[in-house]
Amino acid sequence: MTQMLLTHDPRTGTAVAHHACTDATQIDQICQRARQAFFQHWRTLPAARRSEALLSVARHLREQLEAFAAAEAADTGKSLATARGEVAGAAGLWEYAAALARVEHTETLGSATGSGLALTLREPMGVVGLIVPWNYPLITTAERMPFALAAGCCVILKPSELAVGSLALLVAHLQQNPLFPADVVQVVYGVGKEAGQALTRHPAVDMIAFVGSTATGRAIETAAASCGKRVTAELGGNNQVLVYPDANLAVAADGVIAGALRNGGQACIAGTHVLVDPAVADEFVSQLQQALQRRFPASSSDAVPEGLQPMITLAHKQRIQSLVQAGLAQGGVALPGSRLDGPGHFLGPVLIDHVAPDSALREQELFGPVITICRVAASQFNAIVADNQYGLAVYVWTAASSTALQAVRQLRVGRIWVNADPEFWLPELPVGGFADSGVGREGGIRALDTYSLPKAAIIY
Ligand code: NAD
Repeated sequence: MTQMLLTHDPRTGTAVAHHACTDATQIDQICQRARQAFFQHWRTLPAARRSEALLSVARHLREQLEAFAAAEAADTGKSLATARGEVAGAAGLWEYAAALARVEHTETLGSATGSGLALTLREPMGVVGLIVPWNYPLITTAERMPFALAAGCCVILKPSELAVGSLALLVAHLQQNPLFPADVVQVVYGVGKEAGQALTRHPAVDMIAFVGSTATGRAIETAAASCGKRVTAELGGNNQVLVYPDANLAVAADGVIAGALRNGGQACIAGTHVLVDPAVADEFVSQLQQALQRRFPASSSDAVPEGLQPMITLAHKQRIQSLVQAGLAQGGVALPGSRLDGPGHFLGPVLIDHVAPDSALREQELFGPVITICRVAASQFNAIVADNQYGLAVYVWTAASSTALQAVRQLRVGRIWVNADPEFWLPELPVGGFADSGVGREGGIRALDTYSLPKAAIIY
């Protein structure tokens, strides 16, 4: 009997849709068909044709923006406005990949061989298994799928079991789009330990592009390495926000609230942990509380502040609550306006001041609407960031270009924002992490290198 996945709206708890799980036999057939599509069609298609196909997907995303946004909002609990922004961002990534599809980074060495010619070509990796999480299904897919396709790879997508709808729409379009030959893009549905693991182990899959938690990513890296697959993994983050004494504190406070609480804090790049110099700590905390009021102008009688996003599951909410309780037991102080509980999947926002640098609250990825504040001398900021096992993102708030430059040069993290919150990113810039935040890079001008390998030849 076919197993079914049932997704739920975290806002209301109501059922959204059933999706049939792909069984082991079907996954095997899908992988074999992807391999055939790769060798018979997609790998050798002229780059301009691949580019045209990718552009048509971007157009479709823009034309059907409302349908994609509604599907994304229903599964994840994000607002329609947020989901619309995500669809537009995804379309931008498909457009950028369409442009890159026509740019080849190859070399020709005329003089190295005497009378012959030496050259390099880019060879696509082959079949890519793309495994994505629930928090930003369309964006995390768009950061990878179109670039893999642009490089000449075929893709098998594995959505999270918690958020399927927008990606099911995307795959349905790709499979009906006449510019994509059959089986160039396929999908498998199911839980990670079944559908995801089957992809990572299948011999017809050449590469895994993974986005998700550090624990799962490490397990996938081990499984894939044991059978010789390339892996890119963009994993968890536990990101610090450095507030220097010379920063514009009011602007910084608005940026911190937006950047930490977007998507209910369920974002790998959320700037959760504030380090603020004691010289300005009282003033900054006051600004932060005012910024919170501006962003979530809820009266105390409101059960849920407008604009707040629910946690994806009750278990996830309870996990955050227990981490917060442990942090409070270790001396953290919940600021007025913090909501340690809420109806259903709702929680927060929570602001916790006086968190010690070594508090357990700062050690794990919280992934919720929580901001911790640690009062510590600015001279220690960089050392504290360096101590963190993660290396995904850092936010720097300062008026001094020398401080900004020093942070940018010294910190080993994949993305650094100076005087900005993460609303602003560009497809032209690569994404990825250091240490426990992952391996490999996606996006940016060299994005196709991730999905191809150089091949060298000498011709006489
Ligand atoms: P998760 O690791 O539980 O699941 C991610 C995906 O992996 C899902 O599709 C899941 O079904 C699949 N999976 C689970 N176990 C598997 C296995 N053994 N083999 C193969 N696939 C398996 O993560 P999540 O809870 O869906 O997402 C939240 C996490 O994702 C957070 O840690 C967050 O930081 C991270 N994330 C990172 C980025 C980034 O760009 N760095 C972006 C978004 C989310």
